[in-house]
Amino acid sequence: MSRVKPRKYRMEVAIDRLQRRRAWDTRRMRGVRYVVVHRCDVIKASRGRILTNSPEDCARYFVDRGWRGHPYHFDVGEGDIVQCNPIDAHTAGVRFKNASSIHVRVRGDFRKFAPSVELWNTVACLCADLAGLIDPGVGRRLEVIGHSEFWLRGILKAIQLKDCPGKQFDMDGLRVAVSRMLRDERTTMPVLPAGSPWWRWWTIGASEV
Ligand SMILES: [Zn+2]
Repeated sequence: MSRVKPRKYRMEVAIDRLQRRRAWDTRRMRGVRYVVVHRCDVIKASRGRILTNSPEDCARYFVDRGWRGHPYHFDVGEGDIVQCNPIDAHTAGVRFKNASSIHVRVRGDFRKFAPSVELWNTVACLCADLAGLIDPGVGRRLEVIGHSEFWLRGILKAIQLKDCPGKQFDMDGLRVAVSRMLRDERTTMPVLPAGSPWWRWWTIGASEV
């Protein structure tokens, strides 16, 4: 799974289109250290009352429960990425880590079933773009981590309640794929004019693996 070739993906910015109660606070990008991968299946979470896993329905699910809005920065499907919040929004993806995390929602539940190759690839390409193009200014790159891995490292291991993004989502493979992409692409990393989007326009196909 770890040989991913970077390709163009669709990236849509839906920040102003999604339902919300009010905007998230803004945080300093200098404190950002992590790209955090999450599972989120709102069809399952709403027991079928919400019918799709679209970013719109995800925002609706959380707003209905009193949250300010969609709690992740990016929302990822197969070959399809939607930016749901500004990159400097202090959203609510991992308690105590939100000032330092960029949150990536992967549509679905990966505790029992693995993501499709295309979905996993799309996540890998987004993580590589974020790690490659956002400089946290501490002499090393952003770290790609699964939500639950925060607790597995720390003293909270014993009370770990979540399995996110899920045992079937290969985080180690994802990190290998991301470092390969960063290594191979380093010399071709585009120099972006001021004010232009920071991502590259890659498309992704399962046949690329
Ligand atoms: Zn999570």
